[in-house]
Formats: sequence, C-alpha cells, structure tokens
Amino acid sequence: MKLHEYQAKRRFAEAGIPTPSFELAETVAEVLAAAESLGYPVAIKAQVKVGGRGKAGGIELVDDEAEAEAAADRILGMDLKGYTVEQVIVEEAVDFAQELYVGITMDRGAGQPVAMVSEEGGVDIEAVAERDPDAIAREHVDPAFGLHPYQARRAIVEAGIDAAVARDVARVLQTLYDVWAGTDATDAEINPLMVTTDGEVIAADAVCNVDEDALFRHPELAEFEEEEARDELERKAHEYGFDYVRLDGTVGIIGNGAGLVMTTLDLVDHYGGEPANFLDVGGGAKADRIANALDMVFSDENVDSVVFNIFGGITRGDEVARGINEALSQFDEIPKPVIVRLAGTNWQEGMEILNTDLVTVEETLEDAVQRAVEAAAEVAA
Ligand code: GDP
Ligand code: MN
Repeated sequence: MKLHEYQAKRRFAEAGIPTPSFELAETVAEVLAAAESLGYPVAIKAQVKVGGRGKAGGIELVDDEAEAEAAADRILGMDLKGYTVEQVIVEEAVDFAQELYVGITMDRGAGQPVAMVSEEGGVDIEAVAERDPDAIAREHVDPAFGLHPYQARRAIVEAGIDAAVARDVARVLQTLYDVWAGTDATDAEINPLMVTTDGEVIAADAVCNVDEDALFRHPELAEFEEEEARDELERKAHEYGFDYVRLDGTVGIIGNGAGLVMTTLDLVDHYGGEPANFLDVGGGAKADRIANALDMVFSDENVDSVVFNIFGGITRGDEVARGINEALSQFDEIPKPVIVRLAGTNWQEGMEILNTDLVTVEETLEDAVQRAVEAAAEVAA
C-alpha cells in the first residue's frame, strides 16, 4: 500500500526527519488560507499516488496570491496520470542549493534491505540507476542490527556528499531506515532530500510503501487503507479476496497459485503477447470463485482473450472444470475467448467435463498460452 506524500511526510517528521511545514487543502480557498499562514513563496503539490508529479504538471511554485489561486484552480481536479487530484499540500518553498536522494528498499537479489544515497536527487532515480549505477552508493543492512552509523557514513562518503552536510544526511538515512523497518515498508524514499542555501538538510518529498501483509501490525495505518485510491478492478479484487495486479496488456490470466500465474505471465510474454493482469484465485477454486475471477477479467476492457492455468492439487481438476462450466453458463454470451489448461489431480476427468462450446481446451500450457496470444492478436487485427 502506497501512502500519500503527506502521510509519509508526517511519519518521517514524527521520526525526526526535517521536513518543510505544510498544510493539506481541498479547495482553492483552503490553498489560499494555507499559503497566507505559511507565507509566500509556497509549493502547491498534487496528492496522488504516482511518481513524477513535477514533470506531469502536478507541482507548482508560487510567489503570491494571484499565482496561488491560478495554480490551485488548475491542479485541483486535474487528471494526473489517470488519477483525479482531490487534495494538494501547500508547503513552504525551500531555497535549495542541491538535491540529494536517499532511499531504503529490499534488495531481493541479496535477500537484504539496502540503503541508498546519491548526489543525483530530484530526478527519476531509476533513470540514474540505469545510466550510471555508480552514482548511487549502496549499503546492505543486517535487519538484526539495523543500519550501523559507520555504514551510513560510508555510503555518504562513497556517494560524494559534501562533508559539511554529511552528518545531517547520515542522520536522515539512519532515521529513514528505522522508519522503513518500523513501518514494515517495502520502500521508503526521499527524493529530493534538499540541501538549502543555508546548509540545512530537508526532505522535500516523501515516499513510503507499506507491505499490505503487515498491515495488521499497524492499526494506525488502517485509515489510510480505506481511502486507498484503488483502480476499480483492484478494488473488486480486494472485495473478492484475490491477489490481483492490473497490467496493460490484452491477455487475461487466471491461475491458482502465485508461481503458476507468474509462469503464465512469462509465457504470454515469451509467445509475443502482453499480459493484462496477474490473478491468483488461490486454492479451493470453486464455481463462485471462478465466476468472480471471470467477472474480473471480462470487465477489464483491455482484455481480448483469457487463459486459465489450473493445477489440481487438493482442488481436483474435475471440480475446477465444473466451476468453469457453471461460471461460464451464467453468461448469455461469452464476451472473450477462454482457453483452459488443466494439470494435476484428475486433469483428464476435468478435460472431459469442460464444455467445449464455452471454452477451448489445450493439453499443454505452451499450447494454451499460444492459443490465447493468437486469439488476442486476432481481436486486435
Ligand atoms: P515528484 O515529481 O512527484 O517526485 O515530486 P517532488 O516533490 O520530488 O517535486 C519535484 C521537483 O520540484 C523537485 O525535485 C524540485 O526540483 C522541484 N521544486 C522546486 N522548488 C521546490 C520546493 O520548494 N519544494 C519542493 N517540494 N519541490 C521543489
Ligand atoms: Mn520526488
């Protein structure tokens, strides 16, 4: 779960990271009142859960009331990468000399958290990582001990941070690590961490993504979850209790088990298609669950074909087949071609039961995926 900038910033500030003063506003009048009390110049920043708001026109620096009014009027209600801006923060502008980057994430390859520091803040850090990986200093962290002070200092020296601010940046990095660990975050990031013309270090932006599976440990974050701006389909998936991620391709994918679904995604890609989603219906895929899964993929307008990849374990292939038949017979017309591959317990019985008026059955996963990719390509043509 992604927090809004203002939510993450409050958390960072509570932990002791210096942040500019800001107020949340939902109307032009509220923006003007906030700016008045903070004093001009201020930054007006759209609160939507996407990165790169600056480039997309969601952030404006204003010097007086007339500018603030025009900016607030433009930003409130604007569409920012598919999200409608309903809130902004009005924040003291920072007179900065330099923009740094600090972040904590999980390095899956190393199986350890990693703390990162760079002098090249203020820009897309992924682009920096690609163009010049050495521009980002990294320290892996043993979670039993946390980020040691010497590690923070080493990363800062390696990143080439000015000695005058090294101590302050080290403190921010260590605090950020503690917030990251204490929040069960997947990522915590400050980009830019500004160095002001007075030599102060201040967090001008804040990113914090929390592991949803750990939310039960953070009742204080529960209110943020409710207002989570989900995609309509992701909201539905949440309601049905599926693990679902919407992607932007055309081949809908349904499977039972995360690994199986991932494999199917890879194969769709391998055969030249583009996955429309990740959808894991989990174990015990009974008819109602299958119907819900189909409802999900069918209501994604990008989907042109659907591939089912089911491995019968405790859930037997014949049960799943009945579920698919039952679910599909609820539709007057099947809106998109459905291709099914069953394996595991009772797969043969399952294949015999499947109603081939409703679905296409393939024996191997490769054939099923290829068929689905072809079907999607035909629709596109
Ligand atoms: P993002 O584009 O969504 O990552 O939002 P940021 O908060 O990082 O803002 C983008 C950019 O706005 C920063 O990198 C700064 O270069 C620029 N900016 C200029 N003046 C200010 C200021 O006073 N405050 C903030 N927050 N950003 C500023
Ligand atoms: Mn940023």
